[in-house]
Formats: sequence, C-alpha cells, structure tokens
Amino acid sequence: MKVEGSQFVPKSKVDASNFVPKSKVAGSWDPNALTWTEHQFYFTSQSWGIKAVWEKVPGSDQPKFTFPLIITEVRPGSEAEQQGLRVRDEVMAVRPEGDAAYREVKRQDKDPRIVSSGKATSYVDDETCGILMRGGRCAIKIRRGEKTQRCECGSDEITEDERQGDLICLRCGVVLRGKVMSMSSEWRTFKDDESGHDPNRAGAADNPLLSSDGMSTMIGASGPVFGPVRNAADLQSGSAANLAKNQFKGSNQNADRAILDAFGHIERMCERLGLPRMIISAAQEMYKVVDEEQKKGKKVGRTVEATVCSVVYLACAEKKVPRTLKELCSVTTSTKKDIGKTFKHIEQLLGKKSGPTSAVDIIPRFSSHLQLSNDLERLSIHIARAAEPFLPGRVYTSVAGAAIYMACLLAHGTPAAGGATLPSAKQISDATGAAEATIRQVYRDMHVRRHALLPAGTAAVVPGRIDSIPDH
Ligand SMILES: [Zn+2]
Repeated sequence: MKVEGSQFVPKSKVDASNFVPKSKVAGSWDPNALTWTEHQFYFTSQSWGIKAVWEKVPGSDQPKFTFPLIITEVRPGSEAEQQGLRVRDEVMAVRPEGDAAYREVKRQDKDPRIVSSGKATSYVDDETCGILMRGGRCAIKIRRGEKTQRCECGSDEITEDERQGDLICLRCGVVLRGKVMSMSSEWRTFKDDESGHDPNRAGAADNPLLSSDGMSTMIGASGPVFGPVRNAADLQSGSAANLAKNQFKGSNQNADRAILDAFGHIERMCERLGLPRMIISAAQEMYKVVDEEQKKGKKVGRTVEATVCSVVYLACAEKKVPRTLKELCSVTTSTKKDIGKTFKHIEQLLGKKSGPTSAVDIIPRFSSHLQLSNDLERLSIHIARAAEPFLPGRVYTSVAGAAIYMACLLAHGTPAAGGATLPSAKQISDATGAAEATIRQVYRDMHVRRHALLPAGTAAVVPGRIDSIPDH
C-alpha cells in the first residue's frame, strides 16, 4: 500500500466548503472567500507521502478512498512535501506513467446494503483507488482553494472587524483594507424596544437644526462600567445608566431635546393634516429661528403648542398649500386666539408676510372633499376670483363656500354636475369650516352681482339658469 490511509475522519472536517463561514450573508465581502486553482504534480518515487481518508469495505480486499479525495496529511520530508502538495488539496485526476491521458477521479456511490464503519456516502472509483495504492511514477492534478485576500507578509489569516469596517491581518496586524462596506442587512431600532441593544450601525443623518449638528457623543445606558467596585453605592453611582444621565444633564443635548420634542410635534401635526415633507422642513426651520429668539429673551410664543401651530400655518401659506386656522385647531389643544396671537408675533419676527389667503387657493381641496366634478371646481374658482374684490373683509373660507354653493346651484341638473348629487349648504359648511349662515350671507351678496361673476359660455350654465337660481 503506497498511499497510506489514516483513520477515518468525518467528511465534514476536510470538505473545503466548510472553511467558508456559513454565517456570512450572501453578498458580503468575505475575507475567507476561496478561489480555486489547478496544479499538477509529478511523482517519481514509489511512496508519495500523502494520506487521505479511506475505509475498509466488506466484500472487497481493497480499501476505498472516500469521495471527494482530499489530502489529509503530507508526510514531512516526503516527495509530496518537496513538490509542494498541501493538506486540503483535492485530487481531481491521475495519470500513471505510460498512460496518454489523465483519468478523472470518479465518484462511486456507496452500496446502501453495505454496512461499514465509516459514514461515507460515496467512494472514489475502484480503478483510481488501485492506482493510488500502487504508487510509483505518476502525475496528478489537484485543485486548491486559496483565500482570495492575502497580506503582504504572506499570511492569509485575515479577519474582518465589522464594527470598524477593516480587514486586518491576524499575523502582523496590518489593516489591509479600511472602510469595507458591509452588505449584510440593516436593522432599525424601535422606540418601544427597551432591550437597550442598538443594532444600528450608523446614527441619524446630521441635522443642521440641532445645536450639536446631531454629532455629539452619548453614553449608552446599558452595560457595566469598568473599574474597581468598592461597595454597593459605587455600583449604584457607577452604573452606565447613571453616567448616561449625568452626561445628558451636562450636555447641550438637553437643549436639543426640547427642540427635538417640538420637531416631533410639528411632524405629527403635519402628518395628521396630510401635509408633505416639504412643509415639515419649512416649519421646523421657522421654529428654529423662533427658538433662538426666545433664548435671547424675546417672548414670542405663548406656548410651545401655539408656536408649533403657527409655524405650520405659516409654512403652509408660504408653500401655497394653505390650511385654515380651523383645520389647525382640529389637531391641537391650542385655542384659535392663542394661535392667532402667536402667529402675528412670529410673522413679525420672521419678516414673513403670509399675505391674505385667497379663496381660490383652497377651493381645489374643498371640492375634492365634496367630490365635485372638475367643471364644477373650475366654475367655483372662477366665481370666487371674480367675487373676492367685491367682498372686502369676508373670510376666505366663507367666500370659497359661497362660490362652491353658487356653482352647485347653477350646475344643478346639468352635465357639469357629473350625475352626482350635489352637496347642500350644510355639507359645504362642514367641508369648508365656514358657518352655513355665513355662506348663505356671502352667497346673497354674490347673487346680486351674479352676472359679473360668471365666465362667458360656461358649459355648466344652461341659458336662463342664471336668472332662476334662488337668491339665498
Ligand atoms: Zn500580515
């Protein structure tokens, strides 16, 4: 027997695929990834000096090597060692002297009826086993899995520091690559998660609206504090939670927290009103300015709540998505009076003039609430635009309500109504927030001038209808 057998080693111990950690998530850059290379060796002596796993199978006097044929030992001083064969090399093909071509190492499935000592499920084919046993002059082809990454010191023992994103050589300590991007999944923290474990790998984006740009250090509230513990009080005062608390007190994060609270408030309010991100940012910016003025001792907002409402209101007006004060009141505990006063202060402070909101700006929103047709919406806008100059001092919501009311009366029974039932004065009042009586009052004022308010040739206006609509 020229290729010596060693005791049975479970296949899993020599299978090359086992050297790649299974915990690696697909797509992650893996310092232990293998590249497979092929090598050829030529033996001239009888005994090559390599070992592989084999079993004695009942009914056969020839031992069988397990498949795949992986070298488990290279004897020191042997020809194999001089040639450069290594443990874990996998023999792919053999060519005994005199043969023209390589003979592939084939797999031979184990006969399930045979009970043998090992756990192998397949063997190397009999012919190859014979050649390996015989030894002598022979060429073999092996494939070798080599780590893709290698340090300049020659070591391939490289580890990845996932926290820092560095690849570090375990032998000499050189950082081979910095800022390695991790491709593994990103985790979020949730507010109600109290385990204290923060799976985030990065903090929030820096926020220029915070005094520290959101880049300050915070002591985590969990985990032990290192250092000598002398008594129970030490343990108490030295706990990480305590440290965190003290640090928080002393830092300007306290100031940040107040403003963060307000920002959260603005966000929630805008979400309830269905306002876009753009408004939230604009309102937060305004709040920041107001907050700084207040720190200088200027009294601007009566309450945080009122200030928040006011900046949201102003932001809406500025970005041309006006909301009425009434709508704002529906999502806050502040009174209209409070908001109104604070709003005036802030307007002055910011040098912004929100300008009178026009009924024209809010009709599209109200008509979509009332599910009016496009024709009716256009007609309402036209009426409102024409009527506004005649109605000084009228609140824009009442003007909008009255314009919609008039458009509905005009369109009653015409194709412009879109076949739907048109809203009553009460429903219009509910949608616009203007009192029904006020809407009727404004409508009466409009009715007098109705001929001047209507666009020429509106499809919605059937001839004669303009004179037959009621005057209240
Ligand atoms: Zn190294």
